[in-house]
Amino acid sequence: MTMRHVYAFSDGDGQNKKLLGGKGANLCEMTQIGLNVPPGFVITTEACLDYLEADELPASLLGQVRDEITNLEAATGRTFGAGPNPLLVSVRSGSALSMPGMMDTFLNLGLNEETLAGLIEQTGDERFAYDAYRRFIQLFGKVALGIDDEKFDAHFDEIKTRAGIKADVGLEAAHLREISERFLGVVRQEAGRDFPQDVMQQLQLAVEAVFRSWMGKRAVDYRREFDITPDMANGTAVNICTMVFGNMGDDCATGVGFTRNPGTGENEMFGEYLTNAQGEDVVAGIRTPKPLAEMETEMPEQYAQLVELRNKLESHYQEVQDYEFTIEKGTLYCLQTRNGKMNAAALVRTSVEMFREGLISREQALLRIDPEMLEQLLHPTLDPDSTTQPVATGLPASPGAASGKCVFDADLAEKLGNAGERVILVREETRPEDIHGFFAAEGILTSRGGKTSHAAVVARGMGKPCVAGAEGIDVDVALRLAHVGEQILHEGDVITLDGGTGEVYLGEIATLPADFSSELKELLDWADEVADLKVLANADTPDAANRAREYGAMGIGLCRTERMFNASDRLPIVIDMILANTEEDRKTALNKLLPMQRSDFIDLFTTMSPDPVTVRLLDPPMHEFLPTEQQLLEEIRTLRLYRDVVRGRNSALSAMVDSTPLPAPFSGLTEENVIDALTRKERMLKKVRELQETNPMLGHRGVRLGITYPEIYAMQIEAILEAAVECEKRGVEVQPEIMVPQVITSQELAHVTRTIGELTSNLKAEFGVNVHIKFGTMIETVRACTRAKKLAASAEFFSFGTNDLTQATFSFSREDAENKFLPMYNDSGILQDNPFEVLDIQGVGQLINMAVWNGRSVRPDLKIGICGEQGGHPASIRFCHHLGLNYVSCSGPRVPVARLAAANAKLTEKEFVGFDKPK
Ligand code: ADP
Ligand code: MG
Ligand code: MG
Repeated sequence: MTMRHVYAFSDGDGQNKKLLGGKGANLCEMTQIGLNVPPGFVITTEACLDYLEADELPASLLGQVRDEITNLEAATGRTFGAGPNPLLVSVRSGSALSMPGMMDTFLNLGLNEETLAGLIEQTGDERFAYDAYRRFIQLFGKVALGIDDEKFDAHFDEIKTRAGIKADVGLEAAHLREISERFLGVVRQEAGRDFPQDVMQQLQLAVEAVFRSWMGKRAVDYRREFDITPDMANGTAVNICTMVFGNMGDDCATGVGFTRNPGTGENEMFGEYLTNAQGEDVVAGIRTPKPLAEMETEMPEQYAQLVELRNKLESHYQEVQDYEFTIEKGTLYCLQTRNGKMNAAALVRTSVEMFREGLISREQALLRIDPEMLEQLLHPTLDPDSTTQPVATGLPASPGAASGKCVFDADLAEKLGNAGERVILVREETRPEDIHGFFAAEGILTSRGGKTSHAAVVARGMGKPCVAGAEGIDVDVALRLAHVGEQILHEGDVITLDGGTGEVYLGEIATLPADFSSELKELLDWADEVADLKVLANADTPDAANRAREYGAMGIGLCRTERMFNASDRLPIVIDMILANTEEDRKTALNKLLPMQRSDFIDLFTTMSPDPVTVRLLDPPMHEFLPTEQQLLEEIRTLRLYRDVVRGRNSALSAMVDSTPLPAPFSGLTEENVIDALTRKERMLKKVRELQETNPMLGHRGVRLGITYPEIYAMQIEAILEAAVECEKRGVEVQPEIMVPQVITSQELAHVTRTIGELTSNLKAEFGVNVHIKFGTMIETVRACTRAKKLAASAEFFSFGTNDLTQATFSFSREDAENKFLPMYNDSGILQDNPFEVLDIQGVGQLINMAVWNGRSVRPDLKIGICGEQGGHPASIRFCHHLGLNYVSCSGPRVPVARLAAANAKLTEKEFVGFDKPK
């Protein structure tokens, strides 16, 4: 049996894009639903692959093509290769995925001396015929025979100059005839053969050229750039389509349209057209096309046909379409359609409106949007029309765009920010004590650190743009300037950041504001109805909680209490607590912190009422609240110098007889003041050295701190309990939860529950109230996963801390991995993704799966969630849904993305592959 290589438009399977290409499949589909498509047929992608492999066309192909041409002749009443009514065709490329402009298309194939004469006789339009002929010879010469455009253009220009004509339209029939003749000469000379007069030979050479263009450099580069694998598109099909002419007079036109506005989503006729022109003229920009709306008055009858075409396309494809059309002597033909590419705003609006119009279901409305795209709508973005070039590039650490004066320290940022200036905090790297500068800044730029550096994590939490690790920028705080390559940036100069791309610009670039439209709200409400997973936010302050609410967070899945310690009025007290040498001193400091934490919790619980707020007890190692050793040594050195100066001044003053006292502020400065400060700094230094650890992230932190300094956890628990009681008194319904970090054994949990028990009964004795607070553990160590059964006996909920769990599973420290070897691992395909961004289902996922099963085997109603950064990533969310988790928790601005992803995970759950639940 011979292979079938060709399918008539009236016969091919409109769903089979792999075989027929996207263009071909849609031409078949449109023909079969009764749209006016010029007759034609498709040669399959399989034939293309055969050709590329064997370097010749499959044996039976040309015979089948000839048969189809015969059918075309019958359908159109025209003859291929002979007058007086010649059949001309286009030969068009088209693979399974659209690769615009990457491969070649021939128009007017079938023209030779004989059919040219026929065309002239038939149309009575010599100019039109010669114009078509010269275009075809040039295109054919170039694409099929490999002749440079310049060889043709030289003759073309020469004749234009000689005739004194500027625009092509000024050329007359005689000129075009002469051009055609010269072009035939060019072919003979350059290709060493005559331009083929045999139209079947033309067709064969054109088909081969289109096939070859699949492996052309343009197309290969494009596939590499957009990660198009053979799985997605393999080979190009060839579409042979009867020519229709938009350039046969004023009742002819050609154009392109979108069934809705792809920029805004508005339901309107959108597109452009040209009268008396061929398709390529619209794209080539030779003449300026007119908006489709003008067609309504210029060609009302055809406009009505176009509206009908558009409506039929949308109702059939149930998707916004991007289409090409040509009007020949008053008759409208559709030449191509495909799904329209739109920005996020347009996708959201069309989803909601097409549902309301009854065109699509809610499920379709949700599924047609890639959740990641919503990110575009939630942050200000740089004006896409700007042409300014970046001066430096770092990591895109927190999305959004912002401009402002650059400032090199947090104090000044705070001062200027409070005075109403827009500032960008620029630092080598940031530390917890810079936090007040974050609040005041529009954006953060660092020259060191990765996507999990302090700057990146804090900025993401606050929803502020951040570019981290921009190594091209060298900050000199002392001189108040930064070097950016050759340029110098002075404090106060305006810069612009794009945290979505990592680019940094000098000067101000306009930004477009975030757009949380009513349509987006509605769409996300539908998503919530569909999804099983709840979406919570990671938020540490009442402010962040408020914003998370606006994004639709259904509670707080992770409140990192240590973030509350960093406020500038608290840090000194926290430091006192750390410096304390006795339990007593420590308690004094803690007693000052208690009311502060309590009032934060009251705000936080109230904001999220009646939804849950999961508070994690103190997690980071203590040294994170202290300055670095380097910084302290520097400060001590200057303080000592200063002490000597003060001493020297004092003895000098006493040696001078009638000295005038120094002016303020120096007059009040005593040696004791300086020595006090010095002593404190020296104590800090001692403490810093004491606290020094080789691997702080694996060191004295998390619940280990809580056990060695029980009074710290006790203070935090007391603050939570009292806040809950206070809320209750105010009639505010709250659901606080206490979560313990870094747990490896249930013995640790027992310690904490004991404290909770004691404090609860104290409260009961004091206020007569009974508070029950949910108690749970983070699962972020490997041992916790393996001991999940035991842990579930003492915990009411699990929350997977997938940042630490990933580090532990890979034995990677994230900062080192991301800054050193991970990019190379990803580039060379050793690891497919960055496991700190995309949850590693095969590895970390196995541990999670095990912990979920073991935990629920002991406590079937165990509430389980994920609060690592991966919790906002659609692929991870799909996995969490599959495991039956109750919620995901992610940074506030990711909440909308996660809500849509949770719905998509539910709607496509049957398609989930690659992971079985353990028996
Ligand atoms: P691309 O994929 O680059 O858009 P096409 O195969 O769609 O290439 O063709 C290029 C141009 O030629 C388009 O404007 C198209 O509308 C026009 N065209 C293609 N085939 C025909 C035809 N049979 N009659 C008239 N115009 C055509
Ligand atoms: Mg096209
Ligand atoms: Mg952790």
